Amino acid sequence: MMSAFSLTDRHALVTGANTGIGQAIAIALARAGAAITCVGRRSCAETVDTITAAGGQAKEVLVDFSDPMAGVDLFKGAEIDILVNNAGIIRRADAVDFTEADWDDVMNVNAKAVFFTSQAFAREVFARGGRGKIVNIASLLSFQGGIRVPSYTTSKHGVAGMTKLLANEWTKSGINVNAIAPGYIATNNTEALRDDPERSSEILGRIPAGRWGRPEDIAETAVFFAAPASDYVSGAVLNVDGGWLAR
Ligand code: NAP
Repeated sequence: MMSAFSLTDRHALVTGANTGIGQAIAIALARAGAAITCVGRRSCAETVDTITAAGGQAKEVLVDFSDPMAGVDLFKGAEIDILVNNAGIIRRADAVDFTEADWDDVMNVNAKAVFFTSQAFAREVFARGGRGKIVNIASLLSFQGGIRVPSYTTSKHGVAGMTKLLANEWTKSGINVNAIAPGYIATNNTEALRDDPERSSEILGRIPAGRWGRPEDIAETAVFFAAPASDYVSGAVLNVDGGWLAR
């Protein structure tokens, strides 16, 4: 009997799969049975090696989403069923000092690239009459304002809205679109916060789970959104945050 969480015979593409949350997602999807295309602006060799050493299937493709249209040729002939839009960046500065470059760079990777990569994926799935799953990586800053991260907060509110819009348009045609909103996860993205003793203890003090999140906490939720278990879930933005938003 096949588990509703099995990804056997599926092919998943994960962006930003060289490190952090994207790496953990790629490994978890592979463990559930999917073949993985790991996309990064740098080599994803560590992720590919981890998956293949465990008997899974993985390859890498180099793409830099600072050109937000850079992902549009990823899908032709590739028969990808699952797209995880994970690659993202953050820039920190007071709103009064924030630069146009820090606005555009973040919006291009975190929002524009997510839309046009999803569009290219959907066109290919629809052209072959297939079915698909899109898993976007949103943020607590899809719901909250944050501090000193104007373009990041705007982009992640955008990811939440885009998830719902695409779900409205594509679910009936066979593509479910959902997002995970991670809480505070120990990765490169949050290194500056963890290095600041005051911010770090403020944050930790508010997390009901009493610890920072791990990339694996997000990865298993991604397996759910990629798998048949979530076939009737679309347009959801699920916070995986150790209880943070409940406070
Ligand atoms: P991370 O370790 O910094 O990973 C970000 C990934 O995106 C890396 O693989 C990075 O590549 C890639 N990336 C950045 N710019 C790119 C570009 N121009 N082209 C291709 N790839 C690019 O941080 P993370 O925490 O795992 O972040 C993953 C996602 O989770 C992001 O969307 C982030 O906003 C979101 N998130 C994280 C947290 C958290 O607490 N950590 C919370 C909420 C949401 P490089 O290694 O080359 O930089």
